[in-house]
Amino acid sequence: MIADRARLVAVHEALLGWYARNGRDLPWRRTRDPYAILVSEIMLQQTQVERVRPKFHEFLACFPTFESLARAPAGEVIRRWAPLGYNRRAVRLHAVARTVVERFEGRLPERAEQLRELGGLGSYTANAVACFAFGQAVPVVDTNVRRVLGRLFADLVGLDPPGGRSLERFAAAVLPADRAYEWNQALMDLGATLCTARAPACPSCPMALACVGRPLLAAARSRPAQAAERRATYTTRPPYQRSNRFYRGRIVDQLRLLEPGQSLSLAELARAVGPDPSSKDDAWIADLVDGLRRDGLATIVEDQGETWVALP
Ligand code: SF4
Repeated sequence: MIADRARLVAVHEALLGWYARNGRDLPWRRTRDPYAILVSEIMLQQTQVERVRPKFHEFLACFPTFESLARAPAGEVIRRWAPLGYNRRAVRLHAVARTVVERFEGRLPERAEQLRELGGLGSYTANAVACFAFGQAVPVVDTNVRRVLGRLFADLVGLDPPGGRSLERFAAAVLPADRAYEWNQALMDLGATLCTARAPACPSCPMALACVGRPLLAAARSRPAQAAERRATYTTRPPYQRSNRFYRGRIVDQLRLLEPGQSLSLAELARAVGPDPSSKDDAWIADLVDGLRRDGLATIVEDQGETWVALP
């Protein structure tokens, strides 16, 4: 179900007017270079804006074009990705750069469907690049946008709509085709600054009059017992410091310290990143290292009964 025309016009005017006055000044909004925008979108996938800002400039200074990135060894790209984490993003970006150079003469295709076919770019990133670099009128639905759309149009999609095709179709239907860039950026800014997950600032929100979700949220917040119950479900996660992701990150950080061509034995690696530096046990790390190899983040060489690990 789609909102009626008058309602949509009111929502567009309120949000776009607010964005014109309050939109964040972000470096990737000052360019339409498809390469720079792709880099920013991949960096922003799991990292906050303020951590991405300096790295974005540094990374572009090292690798200013698809060609320069494609030419670089994977290990160098992984080195330059620090300290952003989620290092598989660096591997994916590098692979996309190679595809763009080999198959498209260094020029990114413009349409979201073509971008998805490159491999390595999901629906969100393909739409973001198609819209922000090439001006395509496609929706860009990340977690923040999903939440904001759910609240603004709670009567049509539900306060907490599941992501996926159906929400993307709805987002496309409410998109103002001639202002797609600003609209998508505005939804993101509203979700990042006012319409946050835990503390939506409804009294100061420019959308308060048009927002169907506002009274529903207020009613939900007045049910503290249920809220406490919801919070309790978050406490069952294992601590990050004992997770595989934590140790994978530490292993890659250790490999980054090596000069190109150097490697570390599995035993040295286990001592350097493990919970007990005096332990002689390195079996626990072998699976993690093999997983990193499969993800393109490490190379493994067996030599004289010893396992040696390095960046690719
Ligand atoms: S009024 Fe509240 S719930 Fe609605 S968009 Fe604004 S901050 Fe979000």
